[in-house]
Amino acid sequence: MKITEYFNKSKGNTLVSFEVLPPLKGGSMSDIFNTLDPLMEFKPPFIDVTYHREEFVYNKRESGYYEKTAIRKRPGTVGICASIMHRYGIDAIPHLICGGFSIEETENALIDLNFLGINNVLTLRGDARQFEDKFIAEPNGHKYAVDLVKQVQHMNQGIYLDSNIEKGTPTDFCIGVAGYPEKHFEAPNFAMDIEYLKKKIDAGASYIVTQMFFDNANFFKFRDACIEAGISVPIVPGLKPITRKYQLSSIPRKFFINFPEDLVKEVNKTEDKDVKKIGIEWCIAQCKELKASGVPCIHFYTMGDADTTYKIVEKL
Ligand code: FAD
Repeated sequence: MKITEYFNKSKGNTLVSFEVLPPLKGGSMSDIFNTLDPLMEFKPPFIDVTYHREEFVYNKRESGYYEKTAIRKRPGTVGICASIMHRYGIDAIPHLICGGFSIEETENALIDLNFLGINNVLTLRGDARQFEDKFIAEPNGHKYAVDLVKQVQHMNQGIYLDSNIEKGTPTDFCIGVAGYPEKHFEAPNFAMDIEYLKKKIDAGASYIVTQMFFDNANFFKFRDACIEAGISVPIVPGLKPITRKYQLSSIPRKFFINFPEDLVKEVNKTEDKDVKKIGIEWCIAQCKELKASGVPCIHFYTMGDADTTYKIVEKL
């Protein structure tokens, strides 16, 4: 079923959804099932599976020189989606990125998804590769997520890249996109980021999932700005609780978001082992306020930590 249909059918109740990462190469599906099995109690209508492009690694050779190799450390997104659908009988949403894909490869990936009965996709640009200071599109690949949205939307109209295909079977993908309550780090300002987000919606995206945030005021400001800009699709807040002290600096560095002062003070005055409790309580309070404000769904970045996510969702 399409994600937007779940929201329509929920009759104002706030749903919960979870996001998982493919295990590191060499891992197994049991890593995913161990995370998801306990969370199934909360009846999530869908599970997101992230996509990870290749990274560069440097291996030292006998000569003493380093050899640069590109490897994908977390492959398997599509297989994991199929496996989740088979085991739990719920929808799985693969993330699809521009980085590392030519438009032909994207089309083929979408055909695979369509044949597997996957009709939801979260379309993203992806980040710059490690050791590259900016995002570089593949030759004949997409530069921005909006171009990927357009390609999926073309396929939804039966338009394929090969112009010899006259009556291609239309796909029926429901398209999600990312939004940033605290602005995407590359956007020149908040207003322009919203403008670009609007372009993704106008191109055919049907819902937005946000980057994590720890201060609901940022989400409410973002939602108001979206409405003001004429964006009327459902906006799903994405949340991740803080569980360790070092995350006070690692999360802002990686995700370009701020921690509210009160939370920082609380974390700083406690021991590392007690941070998880504070993070859970903070996240529960965030969820309650978001629910009261009528969000259609709360999306949890589980990062493989089922226990923390469970302790939050059981209180909602
Ligand atoms: P875009 O919408 O293309 O925006 C990128 C930047 O370009 C923004 O600053 C925007 O303001 C600007 N921009 C947009 N359009 C234009 C234009 N026409 N002209 C000039 N500037 C423009 N990454 C992964 O690799 N794998 C994942 O599975 C993954 N999942 C994610 C899930 C969520 C919910 C979120 C919020 C992020 C996820 N990411 C993932 C990270 C994401 O790929 C990065 O944040 C990336 O840097 C931006 O992706 P985007 O789709 O928002 O890009």
